[in-house]
Amino acid sequence: MTERMTEHISGHTDATVLGWPRQGPRRELKRAIESYWAGRTSESELHDVATGLRADAWKLLSDNGIDEVPTGDFSYYDHVLDTAWTVGAIPQRYRAAADTDLDVYFAMARGNDRVAPLEMTKWFDTNYHYLVPELSPTTTFAADPARQLEHFAQATEAGHTARPVLVGPLTFLLLSKPAPNAPADFDPLTLLEPLLDVYVEILGALHDAGAAWVQIDEPALVLDQPASVLDAARHALDRLGTATNRPKLLIASYFAALQDAFEVLADAPVDGLAIDCTVPDNVTAILEHGLSGKRLVAGVIDGRNVWVADVDDRLATLRRLDARVDDLVVGTSCSLLHVPLDASRETAVDEEVRSWLAFAREKVLEVRTLATALDDESAAAAALESSRRAVASRRASTRTHDDAVRSRVAAVSDADAHRTTPFDQRRAQQQEALGLPLLPTTTIGSFPQTDAVRKARASLRRGEIDGATYETAMQDEISAVISLQEELGLDVLVHGEPERNDMVQYFAEQLDGYLATTHGWVQSYGTRCVRPPIVFGDVSRPQPMTVRWWQYAQSLTERPVKGMLTGPVTMLAWSFVRDDQPVGDTARQVALALRNEVTDLEDAGCRVIQVDEPALRETLPLRKSERAAYLDWATESFRLATSSVASTTQVHTHMCYADFGDIFAAIDDLDADVISLEATRSGMSLADELEQSGYAKGVGPGVYDIHSPRVPSADEVRALLEKAVGALPARQVWVNPDCGLKTRRPDEVRSALANLVTAATAARASL
Ligand code: GLN
Ligand code: ZN
Repeated sequence: MTERMTEHISGHTDATVLGWPRQGPRRELKRAIESYWAGRTSESELHDVATGLRADAWKLLSDNGIDEVPTGDFSYYDHVLDTAWTVGAIPQRYRAAADTDLDVYFAMARGNDRVAPLEMTKWFDTNYHYLVPELSPTTTFAADPARQLEHFAQATEAGHTARPVLVGPLTFLLLSKPAPNAPADFDPLTLLEPLLDVYVEILGALHDAGAAWVQIDEPALVLDQPASVLDAARHALDRLGTATNRPKLLIASYFAALQDAFEVLADAPVDGLAIDCTVPDNVTAILEHGLSGKRLVAGVIDGRNVWVADVDDRLATLRRLDARVDDLVVGTSCSLLHVPLDASRETAVDEEVRSWLAFAREKVLEVRTLATALDDESAAAAALESSRRAVASRRASTRTHDDAVRSRVAAVSDADAHRTTPFDQRRAQQQEALGLPLLPTTTIGSFPQTDAVRKARASLRRGEIDGATYETAMQDEISAVISLQEELGLDVLVHGEPERNDMVQYFAEQLDGYLATTHGWVQSYGTRCVRPPIVFGDVSRPQPMTVRWWQYAQSLTERPVKGMLTGPVTMLAWSFVRDDQPVGDTARQVALALRNEVTDLEDAGCRVIQVDEPALRETLPLRKSERAAYLDWATESFRLATSSVASTTQVHTHMCYADFGDIFAAIDDLDADVISLEATRSGMSLADELEQSGYAKGVGPGVYDIHSPRVPSADEVRALLEKAVGALPARQVWVNPDCGLKTRRPDEVRSALANLVTAATAARASL
């Protein structure tokens, strides 16, 4: 009897998830770790909290019909860091910087007074950040599977069928970077062979411990990879697959289409593949190519959005896959790490809207429902029915469809997204209107969030102070920030953004079509969690959002005060977006809402308006083939938000990244009059790049690294400025910090800005 026949006789299709949120229902892990860091609790107390959270998570999964629970995906900080630890890739300077293993681990994660942390960057196109492993030709790997074994044993002893999860060797190497002491052209992939030795050893240890399956995550295979990387993948899978002492191997990939990598996986000597089946291309590839006897964990439930699945559509896909593959398991597209835990707790959200939400817990039920329905639809009838009801209600609801918004979007013409006057003429007109000196000085928007500001916001939330008292507290802060800037002699002032909790949430709270959650925390990095707002319906702006703050600030000074907004791309990048229309359409709606705000600011007398788009670069699609289409709607929505203004009104934008090489054309396409960018850490190499790209509009390459508490001297700032002016015509150059000053201390900011103004004045004099 084949396995498939047994399966049908027993009539049980398995259900699984690729990974699970770590923080616990009340962010218990965050609290426990921070309390350990603060020295309030011991390592063993932290260990106990973590053990309890894992036990609860697995119990929840198995109580809800998950057959095989993931283990080893739980982490004190980050799963890539854990992988570095497991393979022994621990730079010597960290070993020397702490006494216990746990403190060495946390030193790599967040640094301590002896050592700076590893670099951190975004995990593919999610908002989760991982620590970048450092490798060099002298790195010697050594297997340390203790953590994996401990978690596996804990799950098994609790009676679960457990599947350890590892970041795969290829993804690990591709995400690593050369260590500071390595040659700059060192390619971590040259370490594949010794790394595979270590993986083989780890697999052996897990097999000896009784693991039947191990999940190896290779999401790097969904990026555009050269043939050499695909060859390396083929080789890696061959070596792991032909190891003699090993569990069955489930290779997981997610986030985009596998394209050429699909065949590499399908032909590899491994036992199963977990494939992101929310990507139609991947489903087509499976149907066309087949999986030659392998298990398929069909990731039909989207692990990255927050919406109830269309069960009939998902079931249809599963049926087609089931007919093509021998061993089908229903799963999520990726780890559920990227979504909040439990939508049923969002009792402040209107009941109808809440019924459309599926967070991690609801997604587990969906996976189970689909697996059951695949065997016998009647056995899942009630759950299917309730999902269908939610999907139908969402489709038909007047809450998701606002005719006024739709007709406004439909009426948008190309001219609406373009300024009428070309940049050269605008520059002259703005110069005349604003009368700014050469090398004008400004800041990016936020000033330090003082204790008074934070306290006022918390008191307002708790109802301890009324709205009027809160307004006064904010006005006091604005007035202090304006005086400071006047005293320091900055040219274009800001109000300091004291009223904003967060640059996205602040606007989301004021826009229709957006909702905020109460418990919807998602890990951003380490113990830092965010609650992304959710776009559930057509977006519009019922009333002005920032005008009164700007007006107050401008009433205090003769110098121009910038209006400050967050751009449409960033608004969506740091939110959960709807999946029932193209993101570009949602972006256009947000753009039009912002356009109203821009108009109101201008009508109130504002002559310099900054629309921040720090997320423009990070939202680039993973596959290059999709980038042009993205940049098209991204730049168009920025222009739609900003191009209604008079030619004398100056539009600024800001991004906080240094690597812009591949999007200069798109930046130019924004048609902003001035852009501020991060440039300090790279020693102003940006200026040369800008010069070579032929960028001709105003640009403020940052001259003050706000990520560090260090106050730069006037000479340092001046040196950076000279580089900028050496590469670019002086009339293009603005003088500003790399980013907002929100996270810095007031005394640091005062000294640094004073030095910045001194440097600009001196540079001006020598032009
Ligand atoms: N205007 C925002 C600030 O200054 C920009 C923040 C950002 O770029 N992330 O805080
Ligand atoms: Zn920034």
